[in-house]
Amino acid sequence: MDKKKPKILIANDEQLFVQLMEATLQDEYDLFFAFNSDEAFEIANREAPDLVLLDVVMAPKSGFDICHLLKSERRTRDIPILFVTSSTTAEDEVKGLEMGAVDYITKPVSPPIVKARVRNHMELKQYKDKLERIAAEDVLTGLATRRRFEDVFQSEWRRCRRHESPLSIAMLDIDYFKPFNDNYGHGAGDECLRKVGRALGGEVKRAADLVARYGGEEFVCLMPDTDLEGASAFGHVMRKAVSDLQVRHEYSNVNHHVTMSIGIATCTPDENIEPYDLVRRADRKLYEAKKGGRNRVESANYEKKLEVHR
Ligand code: GH3
Ligand code: MG
Ligand code: MG
Repeated sequence: MDKKKPKILIANDEQLFVQLMEATLQDEYDLFFAFNSDEAFEIANREAPDLVLLDVVMAPKSGFDICHLLKSERRTRDIPILFVTSSTTAEDEVKGLEMGAVDYITKPVSPPIVKARVRNHMELKQYKDKLERIAAEDVLTGLATRRRFEDVFQSEWRRCRRHESPLSIAMLDIDYFKPFNDNYGHGAGDECLRKVGRALGGEVKRAADLVARYGGEEFVCLMPDTDLEGASAFGHVMRKAVSDLQVRHEYSNVNHHVTMSIGIATCTPDENIEPYDLVRRADRKLYEAKKGGRNRVESANYEKKLEVHR
């Protein structure tokens, strides 16, 4: 099997050092070389390497400056950086580590030690990536987790605020799911959640939209750049998609199959609104949908409501 090798960027202007590292690491890794700081930055962004071996003394920018730049960009900030330097002062080492570098290697380097350290950091990075994937993906449905939703919600809130663009949230809850579980058993309940999750996820067409499992039998859908009208229309599509699954539910008081109630709220984020208020507003609409008879969509324009109450 031709397994893809992890990528390492070696940013160093010393020919001899580069050759030594090439000989040491080329069997296990896919190597990229940068001989000045601009190249280093450009390759790091283009290739998103799994690790960077970064020389402290580079031009025109120093290794510290490159490190700072890489750490401030979302795309590159999680790449482990190992500084390589001839300086042995504690201050320099502390400075590098405080900037977020994971390790320090001092010249002259010993190839087996470099190899071992690189392997250790690579393993840690892969382990960290795996943990992040686990934390972001709900095991039962394969949808995003609530934790992932919170992250994306915060960043989309800021983005919509900058662009003065509307942001909508739908809270979705399965109707009479407790009697479903009580009568058909937990296994059937889980299978139903899986189907509902797949149906909801399957309806999402826009790249920026996100469906997540919010809790037990509750889901949330984040719809950036979507006004109330668009979000309501999508709410009806999601409600129908779940209803069309025709998952038998003889113990529901609204239908013979599984249905969902949906609450939607929209606002154009600004400094007067707390992000969480939008979630609360959608939740309140969900409650109204339940009270109003379930298997329905209720929506509210947050800003209009605020005007009314002022
Ligand atoms: P309503 O129409 O008002 O939403 O009624 P409901 O019965 O759906 O609401 P309630 O919140 O009382 O019940 C939620 C039930 O969902 C409780 C539990 O039986 C079930 N449930 C929650 N999480 C899971 C899960 O992960 N797996 C399974 N199988 N069942 C779950
Ligand atoms: Mg519930
Ligand atoms: Mg429910």
